[in-house]
Amino acid sequence: MELNYLAFVLPAFFFFCGLEYYLSLKKDNKVYHFSETISNLNVGIFERTCDLFVTALLHFYFVWLYNNYAVFNIKATVLTWILLFLATDLLWYWYHRLGHRVNLLWSAHVVHHQSDDFNYTVSARITIFQAFFRAIFWSFIPILGFPPQMITIILLLHGAYPFFTHTQLVGKLGLLEKVLVTPSHHRVHHSSNEKYLDKNFGDMLIIWDKIFGTFIEEDEKEETKYGITDPLNSYSFLWQHFHFLLEIGVSFKRAKGFKARWRTLFGAPEEIDPGIRKELEQKLLVAPSQKTLSPQLRQFTVVNTLFTLGFVFFFLLFGYYQTPYQLIVGGIFVLVSVIYTGAILEQRRWIFHIEFARVTLFSGYLTLIYPHFYLVSLVACTITLIVFFYNSANRSYKRLLSIDR
Ligand SMILES: [Zn+2]
Ligand SMILES: [Zn+2]
Repeated sequence: MELNYLAFVLPAFFFFCGLEYYLSLKKDNKVYHFSETISNLNVGIFERTCDLFVTALLHFYFVWLYNNYAVFNIKATVLTWILLFLATDLLWYWYHRLGHRVNLLWSAHVVHHQSDDFNYTVSARITIFQAFFRAIFWSFIPILGFPPQMITIILLLHGAYPFFTHTQLVGKLGLLEKVLVTPSHHRVHHSSNEKYLDKNFGDMLIIWDKIFGTFIEEDEKEETKYGITDPLNSYSFLWQHFHFLLEIGVSFKRAKGFKARWRTLFGAPEEIDPGIRKELEQKLLVAPSQKTLSPQLRQFTVVNTLFTLGFVFFFLLFGYYQTPYQLIVGGIFVLVSVIYTGAILEQRRWIFHIEFARVTLFSGYLTLIYPHFYLVSLVACTITLIVFFYNSANRSYKRLLSIDR
């Protein structure tokens, strides 16, 4: 049986998050906040799900580049492994630095920086769009002639390492601070304190920041503020992903002449008028009804998130055995689920509509896995009944969750 063992990243991830949470409680250092944590997980859940499709796609892309455009024929030796590691890390440095300085790239990377928290769950806050931008930078590696098998292994290492740099519980690490990107270096990177902006872009080696002049040491006496300079104050999954792209769109429409339009796409984020965000927020975002979540709603959110995580674990584990229809319906179910969780955190009044979509997709997925007559009939009857009593079901559902308004 060919299982997708990358699924086991999920339990490993939660083991370390649990450990960090436990130690933070012991130290009386509150580094986890409920809605922020759920929101970070939400972004990561969808990224991991898409990764099932994207990893294979990128592998074929690297193989195609290697077969058709490789300049050298590089063999795996100790020296070439070291060279590959250095090349990958250097490319990452520039990918990451440009990700902060070029609007189109920032529109994807901004999601990683939106959390006001800084803990292991922030490492999961990555959009799938970043994978495509990264692939452009990493295209140089197969073109240089490094075999795709070597690239896959080094990219796995590159994917795992940054997890460990997203924590406030590990202090400075002595000599390692000189060479490696440490939690201290990465705390600086996630800070919006004026002097820390656009610093410490490295992924595994901090030497690139030192060479290219973007390194700054963490000042332990200064209180660090995490997140973006203008906080988002929204847990909406879609808004988190698309707000900056929309800001670019509005700015592009208003720009006059080729140069101004070019700057909108490829200039730096501070060149976008911050007033555009406010305009868009007023137009597209309705303020949440209540600021705090009731204990019941918190429990409900936890149960839902655990359910989605459980689904994603098995969806990934048996990924190679699923038909394209199952993959599509399952993938959309996960997308709708994370939008749903964001809507619960914001206590949106349209929550029932999305819950209905979620139930329909999940039932549809089950019938694709097990297309037995009785199951299909049961699903069809249930959906028909909900449709028939839609309005009263909507009212009861919202009353149950105490978000009726
Ligand atoms: Zn960054
Ligand atoms: Zn980070």
